[in-house]
Amino acid sequence: MKVSIIGLGSVGSAVATAVKNTGLVHEMVLFDRDGMRARAAAEDLGHASAFSYDIKITAVNNYRPIRGSDIVVIAAGANQRPGETRTDLLHKNAAVISDIVPRVMANVDSRRVKLIIVTNPLDVMVMLAQDLSKLPASRVIGTGTMLDSARLRAILSRQLSVSTQSINAYVLGEHGDSSMINWSSACIGAVPLNDFCKQTKISLPATTRRTIEHRVHNAAYEIIQGRGATWDGIAAAVADLVRCIINDECRILTVSTVDGIGTRALAMSLPRIVGMDGVVATLSPKMDSAEAASLRRSGKIIRKNYDLI
Ligand code: NAD
Repeated sequence: MKVSIIGLGSVGSAVATAVKNTGLVHEMVLFDRDGMRARAAAEDLGHASAFSYDIKITAVNNYRPIRGSDIVVIAAGANQRPGETRTDLLHKNAAVISDIVPRVMANVDSRRVKLIIVTNPLDVMVMLAQDLSKLPASRVIGTGTMLDSARLRAILSRQLSVSTQSINAYVLGEHGDSSMINWSSACIGAVPLNDFCKQTKISLPATTRRTIEHRVHNAAYEIIQGRGATWDGIAAAVADLVRCIINDECRILTVSTVDGIGTRALAMSLPRIVGMDGVVATLSPKMDSAEAASLRRSGKIIRKNYDLI
């Protein structure tokens, strides 16, 4: 399997490491407009591979060597400065995606390539990338709320003293400030969350749920405050998505892809089945009326931002 990564900043470099560590990729091509940065990343990772398995890692200064890629990850673009929202990056990163996607498409096999979009604001960049690439929507996949859902599962795991692996709970909508927690569909193992709380005598009142929502929404801001950027969580999410595609695992992930066409086109995160062909199905989880309204509001915000570019 051949994976190319465009953009080798904090996120792209961590993604390269995490994808390499899946052990599923035999060739990785790294491109950044800062050629020295890409070369340094390739060199460093090449040394690291001596401790794991043989993989060909090449830094390139043009797009031709990405030919034959099964997956292209786009992690280039400006990141949030402390206090900035993801939406503040809209125009800068629309220009970056508009620069990259046509160059990628000129060099890959459009019949099979999958694009993974990481650049923020994520959902709008997915819509733009799908429009520019002309690929089927199912093969332009944003990491969406995979990371937000992981953050929710981690918090619930501590709160409920159950492994994150047994927590099926999703954050849906925008990968941004308007994302919503789909409490109505949350299950612990096969047991709905409310029943689980009754059976284990754990209290999860509305105030606690609001605190959890606040922590999920603000996780990125807190990490950026302390670390300057976020990279480990998103890198693990991309590696998980790559694994799911390469192994045709058909797992349910909250990725973002475009549904609908024309003025009704919209990318947002919903539970979707992901396999070798990308997104193979989208599911409609149980939702109460407040959650449904919140999801609609999130969709309107994404569409409004898309219309601005
Ligand atoms: P960074 O500034 O560390 O790196 C960005 C890299 O992109 C730089 O190396 C730069 O040279 C490169 N680049 C910019 N324009 C380019 C172009 N036209 N062609 C090729 N390379 C180009 O930023 P980062 O922290 O790595 O973040 C990258 C993106 O990922 C940001 O948009 C950030 O908001 C996003 N992000 C998304 C998630 C998520 O969950 N989806 C999580 C974290 C970060």
